[in-house]
Amino acid sequence: MNLNNVEFIKSAAAPKGFIADGLPQIVFSGRSNVGKSSLLNKLCNRKSLARVGSMPGKTTTVNLFSIGEGYILADLPGYGYAKRSFEEKQRWARLMEHYFNSDRNISLSVLLLDIRHNPSNDDLQMLDFLMQTNTPFMVVLTKKDKLNKTDQKQHFEDFTLFLKPYRPLDIVAFSTLENDTANTVRASIINIIKQKEKQDDTE
Ligand code: GDP
Repeated sequence: MNLNNVEFIKSAAAPKGFIADGLPQIVFSGRSNVGKSSLLNKLCNRKSLARVGSMPGKTTTVNLFSIGEGYILADLPGYGYAKRSFEEKQRWARLMEHYFNSDRNISLSVLLLDIRHNPSNDDLQMLDFLMQTNTPFMVVLTKKDKLNKTDQKQHFEDFTLFLKPYRPLDIVAFSTLENDTANTVRASIINIIKQKEKQDDTE
């Protein structure tokens, strides 16, 4: 897959739209403001693939992008935005339920968590959801630069311990200020996908 050659396909609000030619999807999710747009822009070397920081929590569509070699990148709307109305939260919950339960092929879900904070209730719900739906996932711990080196190490260890029962395929720390961390995330995604392709071949 080529993350440097990403093309927007569509925004989808209904289950029918979540499928793009039946291709396997790599799905990005996380709380509003966790840094998802920033990560996606870095991964894909784009300035504004995903709009950074604009109207947090307002998006209730799944944005689909083609990333070549038969894969789709799906950008899920951020969750947990406090100022959302009840109706908006309901709409989000329905959207997620439909997305994860609809009949598409999720190769990998990338869940973003802020390295500074304990997972929120919404994060925990998302983790439970990923477990229940048997979705293979990895975790990106964002905004690493906001902690000093000692805390980075400590928080990383704490997350590793906490996440163990959920069995993530990988956990990596990321900062928009450190390009090598984008490379690490990219390499991890590609590695997991390659492993999966190998497994699928032997099954
Ligand atoms: P989204 O709502 O999850 O898409 O989050 P954004 O990508 O819009 O980021 C939310 C805010 O956090 C923005 O002000 C970003 O500039 C900031 N931010 C995102 N990632 C990082 C990071 O790695 N380091 C720092 N210092 N700020 C970040």
